[in-house]
Amino acid sequence: MNVAPDGGAYYLILFILGTLIGSYLNVVSLRFSREEGFRASRKGRSHCPHCDKTLKWYELIPLLSFLIQRGKCRSCPWRISLQYPIVELLAGLSLVLTPWQLGWSPLTILWILAFLLFILIAAIDLRLGIIPDKLNILVAVLGLLVALLVYFGSGLDTSFLGSYALLFQLGEGSFWVHRLAGAMFGLVFFGGIYLFTRGKAMGLGDVKLAGAIGFLLGWPDIALALVLAFFVGSIFAIPLLLMKRKTLKDALPFGPFIVAGVTLVFFFGYHIINGYFYLFNFY
Ligand SMILES: [Zn+2]
Repeated sequence: MNVAPDGGAYYLILFILGTLIGSYLNVVSLRFSREEGFRASRKGRSHCPHCDKTLKWYELIPLLSFLIQRGKCRSCPWRISLQYPIVELLAGLSLVLTPWQLGWSPLTILWILAFLLFILIAAIDLRLGIIPDKLNILVAVLGLLVALLVYFGSGLDTSFLGSYALLFQLGEGSFWVHRLAGAMFGLVFFGGIYLFTRGKAMGLGDVKLAGAIGFLLGWPDIALALVLAFFVGSIFAIPLLLMKRKTLKDALPFGPFIVAGVTLVFFFGYHIINGYFYLFNFY
């Protein structure tokens, strides 16, 4: 079902469209607050958070404005948050790399939406240390749509682990058993850590996100995604602990690491498992 036209111009257009969506995600994520939720994201034009000047169109071009202005406001010495170009870049890449990985089908659209949602979740969790319920519900809804699409239509692989998924199959378990098992695994695994550490290692938002993503990925992919989340998390946490910038008591926002885990499974799941078994067999 790969109907993607080829060529650099086509990918460039997708990338630019992605960066535009990314700058919208920046607005939504930065205007989100604990008190008001997403309500503020519909209000008003973009302005500098420091000098309050309303931004002109040429100050709002994704990536380019940041580069040309060298990360500074044009009217005051305010340094623009690195979040802006990073989110724009990641959203651009989501629109390019998802069809590159899956080809084009309705499934591709749903996964692009999932990645855009993940970017929003990571940005809000990094800034405020919370994952809004609304976003977790949207992930679960996307999971349901992906599952229905795979089940009734495309006949595409349901696992990103390729043939290795068969090794972890749950008996005669049907498609839906594997989906629900994925959600259960996420909830029980992270719920257990939440209870065991009395909410210090992660928040309830992380538990809900793990469940929603478990439903989206299904078993066994979710297991690899969450193991990789810890792996990536420790790569970031260990230097911070060693430099004494953080102690074990400060929780790192875990949402971004869960998102990183899913992304790694989506793009490299088969190769990671393959590499693991290769090492396991030969050493
Ligand atoms: Zn300013």
